[in-house]
Amino acid sequence: MAADPSCTICGAAVESSSHIFRDCIEARSVWNIVVKPELIDDFLSIDLVNWIETNLRHPTYYPIDAENWEILFGLVIWNLWMRRNRMIFDRGFMVADSVLQQSKRLLRETVSALMTQETWTAPRLARVNRNIQWKPPSMG
Ligand SMILES: [Zn+2]
Repeated sequence: MAADPSCTICGAAVESSSHIFRDCIEARSVWNIVVKPELIDDFLSIDLVNWIETNLRHPTYYPIDAENWEILFGLVIWNLWMRRNRMIFDRGFMVADSVLQQSKRLLRETVSALMTQETWTAPRLARVNRNIQWKPPSMG
């Protein structure tokens, strides 16, 4: 296999980690939609380790919608990586939906799975609260 250092998606000369996850058109098309416009330059330029850490430790800082940002952020990175690999190694690969659509679908599945898990552990919590009883309202 030839060691071609250029990006399979956009043809950029050097495909670094930062390129795949932030600078490539595929990545930017996601970040431009979900990151606060006033912070997008900072989001795209801080060093990669700091970038990952800030998004996971301070999930309300960059996104327009902070709900479940730690999960969505990870899913976008995961999907960018998987899509890039499939474009290189799977010749029959067809793009069905955008990285953002795919990531949001996986986010819904993840949140749903986490809620199901809570339902399974709920009976134990119910037993603990058995002493809480209904009291009739005082006459008045
Ligand atoms: Zn690229």
